[in-house]
Amino acid sequence: MVTVKLKPMFQILEELKPYSKVFVVGCQLGSGRCRNGGLREAYKVAGYLELHGIKVVGVKSPGGTCILEKIDSPQKSLLREISEKADAVLSLACGAGTQLIAENVSIPVKTGVTTLFIGVERERRYFDEYCIACGDCVISDTGGICPVARCPKSLVNGPCGGAIAGKCEVDPSVPCIWFKISQRMEELGELDRLRESVPARDHSRSVYPRRLHLEERD
Ligand code: SF4
Ligand code: SF4
Repeated sequence: MVTVKLKPMFQILEELKPYSKVFVVGCQLGSGRCRNGGLREAYKVAGYLELHGIKVVGVKSPGGTCILEKIDSPQKSLLREISEKADAVLSLACGAGTQLIAENVSIPVKTGVTTLFIGVERERRYFDEYCIACGDCVISDTGGICPVARCPKSLVNGPCGGAIAGKCEVDPSVPCIWFKISQRMEELGELDRLRESVPARDHSRSVYPRRLHLEERD
């Protein structure tokens, strides 16, 4: 899931001070699940803005702000509603959803969140980064554990040798992911496979901006 973090309220307020009619848009997917930009947070931010003299003319949180049909269909168009009512948008959707709104309205679009990473949710309390969308996935060779996102040096051919008591030398609060990979490969009876080197990674696959054609297969 794409994770986001709500910006401090005073910062959001500062950005919106020049505008008199603000539409607040959240997103029920990543932002909502992170509890940093779903409907609940959208109403909370709207209340804060109203309290500080900014008129909020609408609050909506589609189930996928980065999907054009969700924000603009002939029957129900959030984009049209925004354009009719507001002179600025505050988006709590991820960077993709916010940009999709921005390219379809002619008023300023401000973001109230920072987009962080692709992660997994734990105990409904926090998310851990598991993937940086590198475009050349290696986890079939590493026990289903990603060394690109979960090793600070993104080492795909084994550990750096700096780990101390199984902890990462860059961040001692987390285990060296290569210990986890080794353990997992041993459990799977595939430890020997780690002696084979992973081919050089194709970094051309992570050159931005990328595009995915739905019929595309390697
Ligand atoms: S190898 Fe790349 S695509 Fe696969 S999980 Fe890691 S970062 Fe994501
Ligand atoms: S200690 Fe392990 S996880 Fe940390 S940088 Fe070195 S190889 Fe990567």
